[in-house]
Amino acid sequence: MNGSQRSLSKRAFLASVGTACVAGCLGSSNGSSENGNSTDNSTDTNSTDSDSEPEPEPKEPTLFLVGDPRDELWDRGESWQDCESLDEWEVLSGSLEPATDNTYRGSQSAHLTSAGDGEVRVRIPLEGYDLTETTFSLAMYIDSPGNHYSPSFDVNAPESGRELHFRTRHKIDEPGWIRYDLGVSLTSALAGEESYMTISWGGSDVDWYIDDIRAVSVERDPKLFVQFDDSLRTTYDTAFPIMEEYGITATNFAITGREGADRHLTLSQMEEMQEAGWEFGSHTHTHRRTGELSLDEQREELEKSKEWLLDHGFTQAASTFAYPFGSFTTGTMDLAADYYDFATHGQRGAMNRLVSSPLSVNRHPADNAEQSMALIDLLLDERIPTDTLVLYYHDVIEDHDLWINPEDFEETMAYIDERNVDCRLTSELRAHQFG
Ligand SMILES: [Zn+2]
Repeated sequence: MNGSQRSLSKRAFLASVGTACVAGCLGSSNGSSENGNSTDNSTDTNSTDSDSEPEPEPKEPTLFLVGDPRDELWDRGESWQDCESLDEWEVLSGSLEPATDNTYRGSQSAHLTSAGDGEVRVRIPLEGYDLTETTFSLAMYIDSPGNHYSPSFDVNAPESGRELHFRTRHKIDEPGWIRYDLGVSLTSALAGEESYMTISWGGSDVDWYIDDIRAVSVERDPKLFVQFDDSLRTTYDTAFPIMEEYGITATNFAITGREGADRHLTLSQMEEMQEAGWEFGSHTHTHRRTGELSLDEQREELEKSKEWLLDHGFTQAASTFAYPFGSFTTGTMDLAADYYDFATHGQRGAMNRLVSSPLSVNRHPADNAEQSMALIDLLLDERIPTDTLVLYYHDVIEDHDLWINPEDFEETMAYIDERNVDCRLTSELRAHQFG
């Protein structure tokens, strides 16, 4: 998505998409209103509702959403490095060039390429922000399909008394501009009294474009969100009773096509959990690697799972989604925007509750209890710029591929309780984005 497409106002965007959607989207679903929700459960496309009539509050979410949630949030915070000038960027290794042929926004981006040893490193002075309450978001384009990448954004923050490491990790299946909200994954000793950001990549050759780095204020009101993927039976058998003990509820991203299958939740277990305050989001219908499927197959996966959730009364988090295996492309995100306004994948670390990229939201894989508890400490540390931590789990069981053993899981829940952390549901995190 380039800058000129992105600069459409929300209203203009909705006006143009609204027409296309009436022609292309309706028929198998509910009608859609301008605010992205439906008040009309019929399939009548000849609605005469006019803009001037106030619309009643919608009761239920609809299968299709109107507009693209990214357009509403990508301007969040203030521009720190628009990359129109790179004069302040100091190259420590590898090379840096202005690029005008591949930009996210404006007329130029920063093109970083690694040296022969696979490393690129640049440093940008960082002044004018209180680094105890500022995080960063940016757009990246990495021309390195098929690989997991782990770029580093390290901020030397004298106010925090620490160097703050903002890390992200993602497998790219197809090059494209993706916006990221960086979160603090760990800290280390301060490296001098200057404030600066070091951007680096190590270990493999890379063609890497960066654009529109924005500074976003943290709200300073720490909240923790617990999630599970895959609607696994151990979530009900083991995690659910432990969490009941501590009064913690969670969001489970369900593989809807596996309801009742071996090792997966049954409908009545899901209903019992919902009754107890849990909620269910979508994790596709059959859990294939989304970014590797054809666009038609991807749409089917995205649509069927939300439809299943709505049909079975799991409405609260039905517009939230987790990419299976963290696999997605910009094409997946464009499709996801038709159904979901909040989509997440595993990166690393804590985050800012105000996201600028609602379809690539950060969360932390929590299978290492010690690491999770260290992140809870960072969340509650007033000098560290984070107010949100999302911990996500798979199996709570001994000896499995993606697992945490029940003892370590219980230790983490007990620590959340002991530190008195405010635990919330993903639907609240989603709602927070759109006011
Ligand atoms: Zn999964």
